[in-house]
Amino acid sequence: MKLHVIGSSGTFPVPGRPASGYLIEQSGTRVWCDAGPGTFVGLPVDSYMIDAIVISHQHPDHCADLFAAFHAWTYCPEPRTGVPLYAPQSVWDRLWGFLDGGQGSRFSETFDFTPVSGGDEIMLGELSLAFVDMDHSVPTVGSRWEAADRSMFFTADTGPKGDWQRAVTGVDLLLAEAAYQERTENDYPHHLMAAEIGQIAREAGVGQLVLTHIPPYLDATRSIHEAELTFDRAVALAVPGATFDV
Ligand SMILES: [Zn+2]
Ligand SMILES: [Zn+2]
Repeated sequence: MKLHVIGSSGTFPVPGRPASGYLIEQSGTRVWCDAGPGTFVGLPVDSYMIDAIVISHQHPDHCADLFAAFHAWTYCPEPRTGVPLYAPQSVWDRLWGFLDGGQGSRFSETFDFTPVSGGDEIMLGELSLAFVDMDHSVPTVGSRWEAADRSMFFTADTGPKGDWQRAVTGVDLLLAEAAYQERTENDYPHHLMAAEIGQIAREAGVGQLVLTHIPPYLDATRSIHEAELTFDRAVALAVPGATFDV
């Protein structure tokens, strides 16, 4: 399994660093996971080579580029239809609501939508994918990816609460959000601190920890350092263009 980082900027994109978006590849199957702003133009392969799309939740920094894909695949000489799209129902409802009637029906032709939530499992080529409910303010799915006896978990956006930590147990690679360095009592509770995810990864016996969704106004070097102190091993940073062999 190969993980390509397309974008990793937390909450909003900055030049050269799109928001959340990854390409997961296994034996010729390519899945675009999260479509944050900037990730469509940053896809490392032609968009016609994408076999399926998985979206974690409705926040625009994770799904807004579905509109870019929709326009590219619809208003072109050779339209693309029926692209499999897996996401919580609320993602579809919100995006569909943005479009007028004419575009809405074309949106439904471009994407073949299947709603998913915690406990659902699907197969995409040789990739088996299990969805997990996360600790966020809107319906959000984390995803555990397995193929050829290797495994990866993507946290999407989440706080530390809930059962999701069990699904991380023993994964070879954990791609985890680290939106905070410190969290005060008044902060939004549904994101993770770098030190927190380092601790979670250590207790779960994770092979490799990769941090993402660090906002551009934080010093990512400090986030990595704080996660390394609790993980007790080297931690990697997700940057656009990076690839990880899982
Ligand atoms: Zn986010
Ligand atoms: Zn979010």
